Amino acid sequence: MAKRIAILGSTGSIGQQTLAVIASLGPAYQVVALTAGQNAALLADQVRRFQPQLAVLSDNQAAAALAQELQGFPCRVESGAEGQVLAATWPEADLIVAALVGFSGFEPVLAALTAGKRVALANKESLVVGGELLAAKGLLKQELIIPVDSEHAAIRQCLGSAPPDQVYQIWLTASGGPFRGWTREQLKAVTPEQALAHPNWRMGAKITVDSATLMNKGFEVLEARWLFGLHLEQIRVVIHPQSIVHSAVEFIDGSIIAQLSKPDMRLPIQNALTFPERQESRVERLSLFGCELSFSEPDTASFPCLDLAYKACAAGGTLPACLNAANEIAVAHFLQGELAFNDIPVVVDAVLQKHDPVYLPGIEQIKAADRWARREARHLIAKMSK
Ligand code: MG
Repeated sequence: MAKRIAILGSTGSIGQQTLAVIASLGPAYQVVALTAGQNAALLADQVRRFQPQLAVLSDNQAAAALAQELQGFPCRVESGAEGQVLAATWPEADLIVAALVGFSGFEPVLAALTAGKRVALANKESLVVGGELLAAKGLLKQELIIPVDSEHAAIRQCLGSAPPDQVYQIWLTASGGPFRGWTREQLKAVTPEQALAHPNWRMGAKITVDSATLMNKGFEVLEARWLFGLHLEQIRVVIHPQSIVHSAVEFIDGSIIAQLSKPDMRLPIQNALTFPERQESRVERLSLFGCELSFSEPDTASFPCLDLAYKACAAGGTLPACLNAANEIAVAHFLQGELAFNDIPVVVDAVLQKHDPVYLPGIEQIKAADRWARREARHLIAKMSK
């Protein structure tokens, strides 16, 4: 029987690549639900091509336009956050690909896991912000959450079925982004265009800037902590500019097992879709002949975001929600040319320091912390630009 898939966030970078992989895998993979934020035109094209039973747009007006566009087509159209949750719990879906960007992607993931669905997780915020909550609810089951992030997909493959007490630590690789080796002084005048030119990966704008500041790697530390039940001290970030080793697991006997391939998100996406099987893929093969790999320690003086993420993770409670929210606001202002690159961590740090955390938060407390941190960050940025 075909594997039936719902994609939350199908018009984004990961969503579009997921559809490309599904198309290449053939009829054994069927799309039953597609959701997006507001891109009605692209979603309509995807619906016509992949013929899901359900299509959802978060934006109500865009959803009305989509319904108009798809008149007479056998596909139910829904809107809003409830629509996203409906897709996340769609009875016909065997696998939910969670590729919405940002904190709004968390509630659908929570709903999917609560409904016992298997989730291919590309929405980082679900674990960064909601990891503690998911853990408290007993929803962090390794057989139900299949990471799509390339590093975590690598770690999952390297771990295999090894019990946690055989793991000494993991090596989480980071390309270092476009500014690897730059000093804080050199980073002063960085423009959005420079930050968006990632050397190895093609991704959305927000995550590309997060890669340049190393905040993305900080988020991935939190992700790894929750996905694999690790202590923070067991997660080592290592700069690896070639993005060939996607991460590695070091076992208690000193063996290190790594996963290597060309940097191409279609591979971890396909891994998550075909899990627990493997299938042939269209990803270009890696030849080890002439393949040079280098590794070094991250420069946390030039890139303080990594340390901020470790701190927020160690403190827990609502602090990771503030880390995420303040960073999102700071990055948006940086992209609009209203905040200096070096001030992204300054804003995030100031918001974290001012936060009065709630421990073991529920969803409402997480949302409140998220709103508070956004407000604080905006306020602070407005003051800084005076
Ligand atoms: Mg990654």
